Amino acid sequence: MKYQNAIFDLDGVLVDTAKYHYLAWNKIAGRLGFSFTQQDNERLKGVSRMDSLKILLSIGGLSLTDEEMQRIAAEKNGYYLDYISRITPDELLAGAKEILVFFHSKGLNVSLGSASKNSRLILEKTGIAQDFDCIIDGNCVTKAKPDPQVFTQSADRMQISYCACIVFEDSVAGIQAAKSVGMLAVGIGDPQSLRQADKVFPDLLQAKQYFSHYLTESY
Ligand code: MG
Repeated sequence: MKYQNAIFDLDGVLVDTAKYHYLAWNKIAGRLGFSFTQQDNERLKGVSRMDSLKILLSIGGLSLTDEEMQRIAAEKNGYYLDYISRITPDELLAGAKEILVFFHSKGLNVSLGSASKNSRLILEKTGIAQDFDCIIDGNCVTKAKPDPQVFTQSADRMQISYCACIVFEDSVAGIQAAKSVGMLAVGIGDPQSLRQADKVFPDLLQAKQYFSHYLTESY
């Protein structure tokens, strides 16, 4: 297969921002009077802001009006923005910059496929905004992962067939999204929780090593 589009999730794949989502949700949970663990936070990975809030409230056994939910989601985003306004390229995960440069050098397009509405700020702060041919994030889509929209949009814009796309994801919802349209789904993280992926690597350094062998043989 000649791959033409490498699509990267942001939080948890390229940048170590999952901890800031956790800290921000943790402040909200504390204010609402219940505890929220790192393990609970796994359920929020790759999930949109409003869906994350719904999961958080179900953990706390609370139900709020739509208006209250909008207010709390905005408050959470304020805390999160406080954290990410201070991030630097040091917060790129191992191999992130290298794998983006590598796929470009092999002639593939490089795209972002992130649920986050804050992706632009994160890409600017970490110095990788210029490494993308196409940026699709939470501001571009109407349906959240596991719907594949966030991945199909870059392929559609560049007229690339879905089976010529490779998706790099750290969330179960993202792996399901990629698989549902026949994209190669590469999990970054724990092989047990990402067992639906076509391949799983602990980090992008090892993923790059694999694809440098694979693309040399097949290109
Ligand atoms: Mg992610």
